Amino acid sequence: MVLQELGGKLSAALRKLQSTTVVDEEVVKAIITEITRALLESDVNIKVVMELKKNVEAKINRSEDASGASKKRLIQQAVMEELVAMLDPKTPPYQMKKGASNVIMFVGLQGSGKTTTIAKFAHYYQRKGWRVAMVCADTFRAGAFDQLKQNATKLRVPFYGSYTEADPVRIAEEGVEQFRKDRFEVIIVDTSGRHKQEDALFEEMREIQAAVQPDNCVFVMDATQGQAVADQARAFHEAVPVGSVVITKLDGHAKGGGAMSAVAATKSPITFLGSGEHFDDLEPFVASSFVSKMLG
Ligand code: GDP
Repeated sequence: MVLQELGGKLSAALRKLQSTTVVDEEVVKAIITEITRALLESDVNIKVVMELKKNVEAKINRSEDASGASKKRLIQQAVMEELVAMLDPKTPPYQMKKGASNVIMFVGLQGSGKTTTIAKFAHYYQRKGWRVAMVCADTFRAGAFDQLKQNATKLRVPFYGSYTEADPVRIAEEGVEQFRKDRFEVIIVDTSGRHKQEDALFEEMREIQAAVQPDNCVFVMDATQGQAVADQARAFHEAVPVGSVVITKLDGHAKGGGAMSAVAATKSPITFLGSGEHFDDLEPFVASSFVSKMLG
């Protein structure tokens, strides 16, 4: 994945630092320029990059007297810390409560990978022994219910939806009510993500949210969309209280930086990364280990 390219460039810059004997102002400047360039090339928003640059510089300047080996360590640490800070808004994501009904509403544009992610998410909790159910409140896209039903059947997860009811709010409400009554622990609500009539889409999201009162709203974001996702993220955020983000398609040609900076813009924590079309292709996201892994 292309994110590894970013990781490669960043670690190359840091490695160069290791092989330098004198760490003077010029060396520091060159390293920072190299890191900045790598981030911009990976589609990270310029404002986010500038913020990172400023913070790294401030950290280095604060300890002017450090020299040689300790200065190298300091630079390396500052870069790591700032990359982690960029990906970790310090808002803890929703914690699932065992034994209770956790209603999780998924939102995101059509094609972002929402329905696929829902199946992966269901599989993830199912494997951990949670009682999982799915509701299809996407009455707009033909085939949406069939897609969810197919996944649910493969996973042996109960599902709720309708071929005839056109009101998504009603389906969501009825499905959630039934699964709450049956004491399911993870009740996942899939929603529509139609393009074009976006005002109507956001109104629909608000209505479903008000009707089912989800414990968490998860925004599904396609990493291949570059910086456009930042606006999408903001718009969904304004419609419903997005509590966490899943970034999909990181296995493809995504530069990933666009999605990463959208997270920085919306201050929602990333909880999972999607890296393929199979039910197993979902990894929990931890900013610090992600950055360490990226830098090799
Ligand atoms: P929705 O319209 O948001 O529900 O999107 P879908 O779940 O139907 O996904 C749209 C397309 O993206 C499908 O072809 C999925 O197989 C594909 N997809 C979803 N997640 C991933 C992912 O993490 N990696 C890859 N390579 N493809 C994905």
